[in-house]
Amino acid sequence: MVKGTIAVIGSLNVDCITRTPRVPSGGETLRVSSFDTGFGGKGANQAVACARLAHNKDGSVPDTMEIKVSMVGAVGEDIFGSDFISALEKDHIDTSHVQRIPDGKTGTANIIVEEDSGENRILFFPGANYAIGDDAKDLVPEDADVVVFQMEIPFQQVIHNIKLAHKKGKYVILNTAPATPLPEDLYGYIDCLITNESEADILRESSQPLRVDDCPAVCKQFLDRGVRDVYIVTLGAQGAYYAKRSEIGTINCKHVQGQKTKVVDTTAAGDTFVGALAVKVAKNGGKFSADPTNDLVFANAAAARSVEKHGAMAAIPYLDEVTPHL
Ligand code: ATP
Repeated sequence: MVKGTIAVIGSLNVDCITRTPRVPSGGETLRVSSFDTGFGGKGANQAVACARLAHNKDGSVPDTMEIKVSMVGAVGEDIFGSDFISALEKDHIDTSHVQRIPDGKTGTANIIVEEDSGENRILFFPGANYAIGDDAKDLVPEDADVVVFQMEIPFQQVIHNIKLAHKKGKYVILNTAPATPLPEDLYGYIDCLITNESEADILRESSQPLRVDDCPAVCKQFLDRGVRDVYIVTLGAQGAYYAKRSEIGTINCKHVQGQKTKVVDTTAAGDTFVGALAVKVAKNGGKFSADPTNDLVFANAAAARSVEKHGAMAAIPYLDEVTPHL
């Protein structure tokens, strides 16, 4: 069986979700409605999305191409860290590049959902995700064909390893979440840049919110800045828009409509979308198809399934939950 390998370099966080009628005042103790924990972080979510979209729910590999998914990141030497690694391994993810930070704590997001107002308050502790520091470390696994980055680990590590992955001949996907303007020279090391609408506004430093009509011009702007192959902007329920360079140097742009569905919770829709595209690139030998429309149709279908369920990682679908919707 042919193997493609995806490495996801990014964050691992444990979400601690407390639902409460209201937030207590200083000094007050309040009995809350519920408490749940879940694994998350954009890196781990995207690794799980890659692995699930390369497997059926029963763990079988549905076609002739097996995809290996490696997670590269860090957790603490605490109970969260051990449980996290076990959970990733249950999803067929190689965790040999997940460091355990001695005496470190796994990153956590304490999410307080105030039921009366519907408002969320989040206390984010990066923990082990930031223990790696800013001194450039080589994190790119040798066997990876496709390397996927987000922005929840130290920025200098992201920059250094994008350049390293490019130099090693890997296909580099960057999902700029959460967004911060990028150094101009970095664009030329990125094969595929994926943003949502607000991230696109931050990257192009625009005070005018992106509209669908603006997409052709904005997509071309990102390719002009140096993105090597494809720029994709996700548009929520409206799907996504792509601009891709052709072999003869022209640029093809297209809006690929999202799937209509009943929305329960959109958390991790973006991560599912990115993971789905990484799988398509890996299956296509480490590059996008000349016409990526069907790849975006698949990514929209996978992300639409994720919004039908509550939670982040828990909502990411398996391949056989997506294919009936294509
Ligand atoms: P999130 O932060 O919620 O994970 P995001 O802001 O990064 O998402 P979006 O553009 O909101 O990214 O959504 C990513 C993809 O998820 C979309 O391109 C689309 O395929 C799918 N999607 C999101 N919302 C909906 C929806 N309401 N109905 C159908 N598909 C959706």
